[in-house]
Amino acid sequence: MLANYHTHTPRCNHAVGSEREYIENAIKKGFKILGFSDHTPQPYPPEFHSNIRMEMNEVEDYTNTLEKLRDEYKKDIEILIGYEVEYTREYFSYLLDYLNQYPLDYIIQGQHFVPNEVHGFYSGAETLDENKLKAYVDCTIEGMKTGYFTYLAHPDLINYAGPTKIYRQHMKRIVQASVDLNIPLEINMQGFFLNRNYPSDTFFSLASSMGAKFVLGCDSHNPKDVLQPEDIPDFVEFLERNNITYGDNIIDLRPI
Ligand SMILES: [Zn+2]
Ligand SMILES: [Zn+2]
Repeated sequence: MLANYHTHTPRCNHAVGSEREYIENAIKKGFKILGFSDHTPQPYPPEFHSNIRMEMNEVEDYTNTLEKLRDEYKKDIEILIGYEVEYTREYFSYLLDYLNQYPLDYIIQGQHFVPNEVHGFYSGAETLDENKLKAYVDCTIEGMKTGYFTYLAHPDLINYAGPTKIYRQHMKRIVQASVDLNIPLEINMQGFFLNRNYPSDTFFSLASSMGAKFVLGCDSHNPKDVLQPEDIPDFVEFLERNNITYGDNIIDLRPI
């Protein structure tokens, strides 16, 4: 794995370590591209406070810090400046205009809340409600269709614990959208080693059988978690049993 596009910083209030430490670990681990994609700030109403993301006024320091480091480390690694962004119908276009005032290489979509964090639900909370599964799929596809996202992070974040048949029936729409729109699906390495509900065998076996393309994402919230697939016990086996392989359906080093 030569590129990782999913890296956080302490600005999101639930990651640790300096940008420099993430970069140095990535170099040590043999990466050629390290993309920072901290949780985007969101232009929520002033009375609503999110404690899992930077504030809007931190964008300048985030991008300044990364620009300096990009220059300092340019001989060893390519640094990209991005964000992990929830698509929200209400706030998305304002947010993009705001982020675009600063250096920006890419954004990835991570649909943590549906339809948004202010009036919605958290996708990762276990649920038996098919309506939530459907709402997650609808909202995610609406975001994918904007054309702004480089890839879809943890596409299987939704924690639906009902019948597999119903799960597949809805989730195959996300896979189809990824194939039709040519948006790769991320296999989230942090979710794997933390034993979360994602990445899911049910989802990724379906996705590979439908011809989707994949990106591996560290989703590092700690510099030591900038890892290669073989550093994570059983992860390579997860890829193999879901027919996901380098040289076939994994996209690694690629232009953005
Ligand atoms: Zn996070
Ligand atoms: Zn993330």
